[in-house]
Amino acid sequence: MSGSDFVEMFVGVGASRVRDLFKQAKEKAPCIVFIDEIDAVGRARGKNVGFSSNDERENTLNQLLTEMDGFGTNSGVIILAATNRADILDKALMRAGRFDRQITIDLPELKDREAIFNVHLKKLKLDPALDTSFLAKQTPGFSGADIANVCNEAALIAARHNKKFVDRQDFLDAIDRIIGGLERKSKIIPPSEKRTIAFHEAGHATVSWFLPNANPLLKVTIIPRGKALGAAWYVPEERQIMTKEQMMDEMASLIGGRVAEEIINNKISSGALNDLERLTKMAYAMVAYYGMSDKVGNVSWYNFQEDGYQLSKPFSEKTAEMVDQETKVLIDKAHQMAKDVLESHMDGFKELANLLLEKEVIFAEDLERIYGPRVKETEIKEPAKDSPEDAGETEVHETADAEKQ
Ligand code: ZN
Repeated sequence: MSGSDFVEMFVGVGASRVRDLFKQAKEKAPCIVFIDEIDAVGRARGKNVGFSSNDERENTLNQLLTEMDGFGTNSGVIILAATNRADILDKALMRAGRFDRQITIDLPELKDREAIFNVHLKKLKLDPALDTSFLAKQTPGFSGADIANVCNEAALIAARHNKKFVDRQDFLDAIDRIIGGLERKSKIIPPSEKRTIAFHEAGHATVSWFLPNANPLLKVTIIPRGKALGAAWYVPEERQIMTKEQMMDEMASLIGGRVAEEIINNKISSGALNDLERLTKMAYAMVAYYGMSDKVGNVSWYNFQEDGYQLSKPFSEKTAEMVDQETKVLIDKAHQMAKDVLESHMDGFKELANLLLEKEVIFAEDLERIYGPRVKETEIKEPAKDSPEDAGETEVHETADAEKQ
């Protein structure tokens, strides 16, 4: 069943459906009951006081809890439920004897993705030279549904080009499309704006190239795609924790686009919206969540209220001010780092931007040709077993579309 099947506007219907479900389960034992999207009924009680419709949901949840208690360990019924929001479930649901085992299903890792690709590729006519492990490597952070989507898109792209089978390029185009949205080659951008975008993206690329802890660059494009007018694509590092140095380098790369505009045009544009938004969040997180500011100290107010602490603001006005100041200090530092990099590699930076204007897409190889090999990460590598295969999504630094703002 789906969790929402229990939710009804009529009083008592949800609870009676729960009773009915468990009655059937007992009759049919041994059996498995699977409730999808359990959060529809299992949300924590008493959070939205004042909504009368909630009473009915609470009754349903109470009935569910009662019924689950009524099962002996040997009654031959296994109850499973799924949710994306385990954090908002009522704690009583997770007590012993109820849903007392949790299985976290993370995004698929390299080997998992390869296996998922193999499932979805069966239906397609493929280029015999196609390498599935290559596809798995190109899709870090993709869910199973995303991978299914890649296969479908790739087939559509191949068909549009009247190909007899789907080849590697079709898959690459499909992956780009899913990460960045549809390419809009027909979108008309005035030359002066195009130049700004090229320098902006070259700024991201150059800064990240010279900061050893930033994510390695994959390619840079100034072809409008989805909402973005240009983008620098990175291969996300396979890390689960980030050091302060990595975060600073990351922040400097983020602001690199804005700094490039300052240097080249002597004025700034709205194109850095997305960059600045991420930069601000990261800087605040460093100060208020990760304890990375000396002045504010080793404190974290992460998830304070959600965990039931009633303090509406667990810090004083003075501390709040200090958090703001320290955030600004970090952002200013990232700005300076980006500025230093760009100013000391002006020739290469300009060459890169012009190359980008000419070719519209450039790759890590082009940067290597201009700047020489990238400085390796200074961090000490952990033993292989501790480093998970991949973390997070493919990072894209976008220039926001001016017309959307
Ligand atoms: Zn940008």
